[in-house]
Amino acid sequence: MERRALPAIAITANSATLTAIGNDYGFNEVFRRAVEAHGKKGDVLIAISTSGNSANIVASAEQAKNQGLKVISLSGGIGGKLKELSDIAIIVPSSDTPRVQESHILVGHIICDLIEKEMFSISASKNKKRAKNKAVFLDRDGTINIDNGYVYKREDFKFIKGVPQSIKKLNDAGYKVIVISNQSGIARGFYTAKDVKKLHNHIDAELKKNGAKIDAYYFCPHHPNFNGKCECRKPKIGLIEQAVQDFNIDLSQSYFVGDKKSDEECAKNAGLKAILVGEKSISKNLYGFVSQTFGDDK
Ligand SMILES: [Mg+2]
Ligand SMILES: [Zn+2]
Repeated sequence: MERRALPAIAITANSATLTAIGNDYGFNEVFRRAVEAHGKKGDVLIAISTSGNSANIVASAEQAKNQGLKVISLSGGIGGKLKELSDIAIIVPSSDTPRVQESHILVGHIICDLIEKEMFSISASKNKKRAKNKAVFLDRDGTINIDNGYVYKREDFKFIKGVPQSIKKLNDAGYKVIVISNQSGIARGFYTAKDVKKLHNHIDAELKKNGAKIDAYYFCPHHPNFNGKCECRKPKIGLIEQAVQDFNIDLSQSYFVGDKKSDEECAKNAGLKAILVGEKSISKNLYGFVSQTFGDDK
């Protein structure tokens, strides 16, 4: 397996420190001093002693505990003094020294294997990738709020009936709620991207009062008459692709709710289930869709 290098020190392997500490402090101190020198909080000391009572190993485990290291011990018999000093004590229940030591080699290999599998293996990262999110993409004007044309001021913003409760229901059902909006008012010079973000902050605050939340807003600031073609204006799917990347979304489990033909086309272009809603009748707006699909009416 190819992976990045991991730091590990065999404190048994430095003959210079072993003889120096051995001469000055005695052999029982050789590992304690090395742990004192190198051990940092959060490190792991692996202490191996067949009896579990080797004085220099026990001393190193004591030092490790004092310094906030985790101690994993490998021993035999009934674990000896090491057992009490260990966060994890792996004890081979045998008094046959060669068998205990052979088992320790095996355990060492198993631990290395587990570390590589957990931290680096392809299957581990695949599993993470597989845990994808489902989402409900929402158009904004005409779907979330009444569309008076180029809405950007707080005072012009009005939720369509039942929308905050519906968004809460989607939150509770485990869906990411993501707004995908064409804001050509920016290209036309009616307002700025900053104004749009300010309005979104206002929407967030209003939703919060209902315990509801929009996970993200994506908007296209362009219009072909002013900026030429772009990849983000619906029915293009640039914004959805961005959201899929940002939130690891499984499109096959997701929906797009909008009020215009361009929303419906965008949904189809992205391979999303399309829901077309209107402002007027509550059964045909977002609330209707959510309560029929996720709510008590289901
Ligand atoms: Mg709309
Ligand atoms: Zn665009």
